[in-house]
Amino acid sequence: MTARLKFFYGPMDCGKSTLALQIHHNHTRSGRKGLLLTRHDRSGSPRITTRIGLAKNATELTDDHDVRALANTHNADYVICDEVQFYPVGHIEQMADLVDCDGIDVYAFGLATDFRSVLFPATQRLLELADEALRLQVEVLCWCGSEGQLNARVIDGHVARAGQQVVIGDTDDATVHYQVLCRKHYRAGELAAVEAFTEAS
Ligand SMILES: [Zn+2]
Repeated sequence: MTARLKFFYGPMDCGKSTLALQIHHNHTRSGRKGLLLTRHDRSGSPRITTRIGLAKNATELTDDHDVRALANTHNADYVICDEVQFYPVGHIEQMADLVDCDGIDVYAFGLATDFRSVLFPATQRLLELADEALRLQVEVLCWCGSEGQLNARVIDGHVARAGQQVVIGDTDDATVHYQVLCRKHYRAGELAAVEAFTEAS
């Protein structure tokens, strides 16, 4: 069977890490050996963690790592790459080499767009190179009930429009957090119903 590069993407909380661990589980059961990679995991330690409480130890990918070398050192039959939006583009090229030159399957999971609604460079490269790119449809809803699509960075109750591409939020003492909004409310910068918002401010 020909190896494949598959990319699964969607907004926060759409179940990417959960699917990553499910795929890992299924392959492990059929006797295949996997390598799990992540970067800037929200737990602060190299693990693939999910919002619904599942977790697996993983290797934290650094700029110096070579994905092909790592996979071959681990005798991996497949590689699962979580949080790929944070990978340098060079690592995406290495993932394609891993598939084409070493016959190892690569499953990549990540966000499509950053807080400005612009594609992450690694995501763009994956969309260009992947054999298959799937937008995950596990429903994540905006506060209005519409399908959530974009990741807003919220600072002091406002949707940020400028700043560094990568700021890790959602930790215990973070002043920055992220909220998934539908396109309309992302573009309007509305984080809650207007009545409730006026009352609260
Ligand atoms: Zn909405």
